[in-house]
Amino acid sequence: MSGAKAVREDRLWQRHADMAKLGGTPKGGVNRQALSPEDAAARNLLASWAKARGFSLFTDAIGNLFVRREGSDPAALPVMSGSHMDSQPTGGRFDGMYGVLAAFEALEALEDAGLRTRRPLIAVAWTNEEGSRFQPGAMGSAVFAGRNKLDDMLMVKDWKGVVLKEALAETLKAAPAPMREGKPGFALDGYVEVHIEQGPRLENARKTIGVVTGIQGSRRYIVETLGEEAHAGTTPRAARQDAFAAATRIASAMYEATTDADDTLRFTIGRVEVYPGSPNTVPGKASFTVDMRHPSNEVLDVHEKKLLAIVAARAAPCTARIDRVTAVAPTDFDLHVIDLVRAKADALALSNMDMPSGAGHDAMHIATLCPAGMIFVPCEHGISHNEIENATPADLAAGTRVLVEVLVELANR
Ligand SMILES: [Zn+2]
Repeated sequence: MSGAKAVREDRLWQRHADMAKLGGTPKGGVNRQALSPEDAAARNLLASWAKARGFSLFTDAIGNLFVRREGSDPAALPVMSGSHMDSQPTGGRFDGMYGVLAAFEALEALEDAGLRTRRPLIAVAWTNEEGSRFQPGAMGSAVFAGRNKLDDMLMVKDWKGVVLKEALAETLKAAPAPMREGKPGFALDGYVEVHIEQGPRLENARKTIGVVTGIQGSRRYIVETLGEEAHAGTTPRAARQDAFAAATRIASAMYEATTDADDTLRFTIGRVEVYPGSPNTVPGKASFTVDMRHPSNEVLDVHEKKLLAIVAARAAPCTARIDRVTAVAPTDFDLHVIDLVRAKADALALSNMDMPSGAGHDAMHIATLCPAGMIFVPCEHGISHNEIENATPADLAAGTRVLVEVLVELANR
């Protein structure tokens, strides 16, 4: 039997239902934030399934959880697959969890089919991908890849002031697994992550598999305008330096400048603050955030220049500044892995299309370590980060079948 044939849709679906009880919300979603008791419960459940199958289990100093199925060559570097088990506060049951359960199903399917790969295969659950309780997100994979410092991350606090180090210690105490000594991170031969698309493109195109070519880059900015507070009733318009009026001029020029013909560039103003925030005072200061994303760094550079020019030109009679807060470079996935995903989807007669990922994923960090790629499946109406997030058992199984075939090929190299 092939690995793909041994994938069991019913088992995969049931595992999603079992996991969705941990932190389950009345609307059918989950609230399973990183390093919470619910997160620990999910780790325990995965560990119990792994033990029942005779797979080995270990964790690292940032709490990433690894399930390992041995290959025939003990010296060969492993191939890895997985995602995350933490959720947004009002999250869905498939975001992240699907990637972990698909990887685990792949290991089980190979076990059931009696197929031994040359390289070991590892299913991973990365710590804190969502970044809703502890920032930044994709923390476990970033530490694994050496892109964030372990010691810095251990000191991060949540909004209640709980230090990550303590939450991690609690979690590992409640969900024990043997600790791998030393700094997180080890050599890998390949990495493939499966995820629901979290957008509507596959559904609209009636395709089952997204062959993910890369992850778009993102940049965040803060724009601040400075004017002068004045009496709302007595100050004539000509005498005002209204900081919010300046902010709205800048914002609307930015919306216009970031409209592209093929709707690839993403531009969002997500938070606006106005000071002093009094109904009868002309605002003396305003600020807003800008989140801009695109698969090409050059396009981001071009549009960043436009934003800077707009801030300089549109502020008068106020003054304004724009500061870049973060910049994450786009990820280009490995061409061989991309081709392999497409070829295996074709071989399984699954409709597919190439597409970049709009959202960030753990794979963006692991892609700096080894050849990496991703597989998307549709989610209902493209809705994600929402309790009503949904996907079909058939699509989840289809993505897992592609994953198994890709993993077998990579792990026999
Ligand atoms: Zn996710």
